[in-house]
Amino acid sequence: MEKVIILGSGPAGLTAALYTARANLSPLILAGGLYGGQLMLTTEVENFPGFPEGIMGPDLMERFRTQAERFGARIRNEDCTKVDFGGGRLRVWVGDEELEAESVIVATGASARWLNLPNEARLRGRGVSTCATCDGAFFRDKEILVVGGGDSAMEEALFLTRFGKRVRVIHRRNDLRASKIMSDRCLAHSKIEFVWNSAVQDVTGDPVMSGALVKNLVTGEITKLDADALFIAIGHDPNTAVLRGQLELDDAGYIRSVDGVTTSVRGVFVAGDVFDQRYRQAVTAAGSGCRAALEAEKYLEHCAAVQSVEA
Ligand code: NAP
Repeated sequence: MEKVIILGSGPAGLTAALYTARANLSPLILAGGLYGGQLMLTTEVENFPGFPEGIMGPDLMERFRTQAERFGARIRNEDCTKVDFGGGRLRVWVGDEELEAESVIVATGASARWLNLPNEARLRGRGVSTCATCDGAFFRDKEILVVGGGDSAMEEALFLTRFGKRVRVIHRRNDLRASKIMSDRCLAHSKIEFVWNSAVQDVTGDPVMSGALVKNLVTGEITKLDADALFIAIGHDPNTAVLRGQLELDDAGYIRSVDGVTTSVRGVFVAGDVFDQRYRQAVTAAGSGCRAALEAEKYLEHCAAVQSVEA
């Protein structure tokens, strides 16, 4: 029986690992095949406190990991494939291996959404991307497309103006969802153009992307836009597939938590982007990992006290 199992190894999961390790709970972290979370897909992180010169995302996550391991966190780079929180037990599977814990911290994060276009998978990494900070620099003086009308799309578009000859933002409506400040910056930018009321139907090119087929949703007309890259910035989906039916989720699949730390199951705590749709920052995820760890520690102390009274 494990004291604590942590699912996920982004800033939330590894901060929970650090705190529970320092509380002598010897946490087991199922870090996932894609270890380190979304920061592994970024380049320079400039807003994580304590790094005034900035730090590369993967380097930051390596430091998180080393720090947690220093205090006894056990990290396995494997995915949790199933959970069963029924019958007052907290069971977690890695393939055929069944593990049981007194408490679980879920910090599985969220993943960028794709459009699922016919040729999207074939051209991923060959022009099609969900990460401007990872791939933008490959498109110096090139034609770049961005899909989406939220803050992420605006942020990506602004960042991509550092590289691209022109950045065209394709949005399915004629009104941006993004905050006013971000919208205004993009609308005023000389390198950014908007393609309103439009949806990307497919991407073309072989072996690398050379264009996109874009449908005007008002007229129905389909146009081919020549472009070297398409950055998809249409939001994120929470990584909760294995938790479905076990924890209460909201309509979008995020874990429901009334206080931002407990869940619908006793002994299961939540941290980071898997419930937080609002802030989604490395530092807020780390903070919530700390909270989840402190709550798990308190919960285990409480369970131990109850058991000793009963004995
Ligand atoms: P979002 O606000 O949900 O926006 C997603 C955008 O993608 C929307 O414009 C949406 O169109 C569009 N979209 C969704 N599905 C689509 C599809 N299948 N095809 C075409 N377009 C599609 O997501 P987000 O931009 O990732 O932002 C999420 C949260 O993080 C927000 O609260 C945001 O403010 C915050 N954030 C803040 C910053 C910042 O302040 N610097 C940066 C990034 C994110 P519709 O508008 O038509 O729905």
